[in-house]
Amino acid sequence: MDMDRYAVIGHPIAHSKSPRIHAAFARQTGQQLKYEALLAPLDGFVDSVTRFRTAGGRGLNVTVPFKLEAFALASRRTDRAETAGAVNTLMFDADGILGDNTDGAGLVRDLVINLQCPLAGRRVLLLGAGGAARGALLPLLQAGPSSLTLANRTASKATALVEAFTRYAAGTSFHASTFSGLAGQQFDVVINATSASLAAEAPPLPAGIYAPGALAYDMMYGSSETAYLRAAREDGVQRIADGLGMLVEQAAESFALWRGIRPQTAPVLAELRHELAAA
Ligand code: NDP
Repeated sequence: MDMDRYAVIGHPIAHSKSPRIHAAFARQTGQQLKYEALLAPLDGFVDSVTRFRTAGGRGLNVTVPFKLEAFALASRRTDRAETAGAVNTLMFDADGILGDNTDGAGLVRDLVINLQCPLAGRRVLLLGAGGAARGALLPLLQAGPSSLTLANRTASKATALVEAFTRYAAGTSFHASTFSGLAGQQFDVVINATSASLAAEAPPLPAGIYAPGALAYDMMYGSSETAYLRAAREDGVQRIADGLGMLVEQAAESFALWRGIRPQTAPVLAELRHELAAA
């Protein structure tokens, strides 16, 4: 019998951990499926998706730089994809192409469940106003923080995002800020959704913004500590976490959407963490 086919599509794609993550989920849940990595040409996303679907593909994870094209391609979208303005998960069915965005939900599950860091009633600071920040905003607001501050290097982008998401912020004090404007404030949870760590840089945050017991979280991950997490530690933060758990959790959300069964993430995360540490 042919196995159901899934893949992660991107450019580049060779580095992706998704095939390993989904193979582990499939083994663990006894699901018969095949999951590959698909390199699409930069100008050939739609063609690549169409070929995969025509050949019987059931769903795709979508990564850099195609999340906006995937949004446009979907014939219907979940609320969280609609608000994120980007799609990281496609599901093909008789009704067409469903687009979802599981990144933000993955982040919140990593924070609340894996890291035991509740968000309800807490003061949360989100750094960055790009695609990752946008995808995180609705799930973060839905988690019910007492305040959510969105700070970005280019202030106008943070302001525009706050305006766009204000209607989801009932009960949360929701503001845009510059980095320097954070001086004198304190936060319980700080999430770095900038890409500064890719350039081994940390956003220039004022000292003293971390409340006692605060968690500093970087969406980026790697074999060594990111520049942001190092800076947070140097500012006295004792609880730090990178985005490897978010990666595994967003994959689990996609898997649950496709297969109707939620895999256990802890053993898969532990295995990836072990490998990263050895790299
Ligand atoms: P974008 O390119 O869309 O946005 C980049 C953001 O970073 C902008 O807000 C930009 O500010 C800011 N920025 C860039 N360089 C600096 C700097 N030196 N100092 C301060 N701010 C800076 O990127 P994405 O939103 O797609 O990705 C952001 C990060 O999230 C990446 O590191 C990515 O790897 C990670 N990510 C992790 C996931 C996971 O599963 N763990 C999933 C998705 C993303 P400005 O507006 O001023 O240009």
